Amino acid sequence: MALDARGTPLWEVELGPERPPLEGTIDADVCVVGLGGSGLSCVRELRRLGASVVGLEAGRVGWGAAGRNGGFLLAGLAPFYHDAVERLGRERARALYALTMQELDRIATETPAGISRHGSLRIAESSDEMTDCERQLEAMQADGFPVERYDGEQGSGLLIPGDGTFQPLLRCRSVAAQALDAGARLHERSPVTHIATGCVRTESGSVRCDLVIVAVDGRIEQLLPELVGTVRSARLQMLATAPTTEVRLAHPVYARWGFDYWQQRPDGSIALGGARDLAESNEWTTDAVPTDEIQHALEHRLRDTLGVHAPITHRWAATVGYTASGLPVVSEVRPGVWAIGGYCGTGNVVGSLLGRGLARWRVGGDDSLVRPFLHADD
Ligand SMILES: Cc1cc2nc3c(=O)[nH]c(=O)nc-3n(C[C@H](O)[C@H](O)[C@H](O)COP(=O)(O)OP(=O)(O)OC[C@H]3O[C@@H](n4cnc5c(N)ncnc54)[C@H](O)[C@@H]3O)c2cc1C
Repeated sequence: MALDARGTPLWEVELGPERPPLEGTIDADVCVVGLGGSGLSCVRELRRLGASVVGLEAGRVGWGAAGRNGGFLLAGLAPFYHDAVERLGRERARALYALTMQELDRIATETPAGISRHGSLRIAESSDEMTDCERQLEAMQADGFPVERYDGEQGSGLLIPGDGTFQPLLRCRSVAAQALDAGARLHERSPVTHIATGCVRTESGSVRCDLVIVAVDGRIEQLLPELVGTVRSARLQMLATAPTTEVRLAHPVYARWGFDYWQQRPDGSIALGGARDLAESNEWTTDAVPTDEIQHALEHRLRDTLGVHAPITHRWAATVGYTASGLPVVSEVRPGVWAIGGYCGTGNVVGSLLGRGLARWRVGGDDSLVRPFLHADD
């Protein structure tokens, strides 16, 4: 993955032999487009259900945001819990939160390598933010979800004890291996050029199938123009340092209303991202190349707030999808063509849940994992 204009993520790992590009026409029950965390979770579940499945990936597995993110495993959706309650209603917000907590446990059990569960911090950097933390605390406690006040070395705010961190590309590699072992056919370097009911095409092949699932977060509206106006793509950027003992950060942190985030890996390196809002109009883009402006802001946070002077070893960016409602997309955009994506910057757990949930619903007839995500008219 080196020499990539998008930069090299801290997470780079040996992905093993490439799965050959799709050649010719093949048949399957289901074709899954996009092999990030969501698509891989979907493929693996489809095999568990006994469906024949082909997965198509433009690059390598984890090529998009799934292998290039902040490595946070968070329960809940992108909006803070009390905001989700306000927007979606208490019942629905509670059901969604509970599903993501279960999925987080499942992720930790299924692919334990590289996962830590030390909780996550929401750190307040203003009195308004502290008041908002109190509202979140009240709403979460009222619904019985684990949360505590935090006042310690890393600042003041909230501690969510069940959250964690992971090595995102390692997880993609593990789920891909599990899916292949279970009999899935995966093709890398196979960008999809055409999607229609019952047929998916790449430049050198096609898949005839009963069901198509498009599991792409950022840029999904380019692949499925029906989603223009529903999903808007944005660039998110990060940097990472060499291992350092200058700080010892026990918990990953979300600060400044979630716009900035950082964690220290077990080897001491710091992965830090965010600052998107500081150049918001430039960051609504599908161009996933790091920029000086955001990288400067991240460096300022690293050097001046965290007090870390270790050399910066990695800089990278990737694209994610945002929706106005804060709810991800789960919808049938063409007959027999389903889309999942638009996780608003927090898709590691929700994407895995929806990939699995959509497989269970459309092939197994059980909609319990996706029901609270659906709009009334779905
Ligand atoms: C810098 C950054 C930090 C983030 N931090 C966090 C975090 O800490 N916690 C969290 O929960 N979320 C985080 N996110 C969001 C999270 O990474 C994503 O929501 C999640 O990874 C989406 O996974 P996915 O599998 O749905 O989609 P993607 O990762 O977008 O995967 C889609 C795959 O589809 C492939 N593809 C695209 N077009 C085609 C095509 N035409 N044909 C075939 N294949 C195609 C892509 O190459 C890609 O591999 C972050 C994102 C970024 C960019």
